[in-house]
Amino acid sequence: MEWEGKLAAVVFAQGCSWRCRYCHNTSLVPPDGHLIPWEDVLAFLQERQGLIDGVVFSGGEPTAQAALHPAMAAAKELGYETALHTNGGQPRLLERLLADGLVDDIAMDVKAPFCRYHEVTRARGSARKVQQSIGLIIASGADYEFRTTYHSDLLSDDEVLQIAQDLAWRGAHTYFVQKYRIEGTGDMPLALTPSRELPTSLLARLAEMFARFGVRG
Ligand code: SF4
Repeated sequence: MEWEGKLAAVVFAQGCSWRCRYCHNTSLVPPDGHLIPWEDVLAFLQERQGLIDGVVFSGGEPTAQAALHPAMAAAKELGYETALHTNGGQPRLLERLLADGLVDDIAMDVKAPFCRYHEVTRARGSARKVQQSIGLIIASGADYEFRTTYHSDLLSDDEVLQIAQDLAWRGAHTYFVQKYRIEGTGDMPLALTPSRELPTSLLARLAEMFARFGVRG
């Protein structure tokens, strides 16, 4: 579900400079030029004013788009609630979006313990940016969730616990674990390796750490 409890349009933005092995939107990364012009998206949203609640900006990585800020501002001007799905890799842009009141709801990936972040994202420096974004989101007052995609070939049980403990320590109230999905992925060795389930004892422990916790997939 793109935005729980809301009837929402989803704008899938192209582009992302990270290369997570489990990415299930590989067709959007990198950009391939097959774009729907923003004017067409805007016309679609204008026609549906009053019929849908909000607009979700997803991807790919929407913060990779220079035009994200004006696009979210335009959606707001039409009276829509807005949600952002992000990897947290652009804290400065995120800070501006939050300060300008352009984001009502954020879903942000927390992909690994910070000492191993670059191994999952295959992008140097990603951990530092993500830590900044986590702090901004928790302090923002916007609705949010943090979420981790889990495949046992990429994360151990202890590492999932470590991610959750760090988020809880920072004051996060909502955390979800998302099971790896094969659809749309391009990494065959990972796709062909069955992922172990997380132990129920660990899931029970995670549930105690957050006001809202769940497993999806
Ligand atoms: S950050 Fe998201 S869009 Fe970018 S490669 Fe990773 S999963 Fe795909």
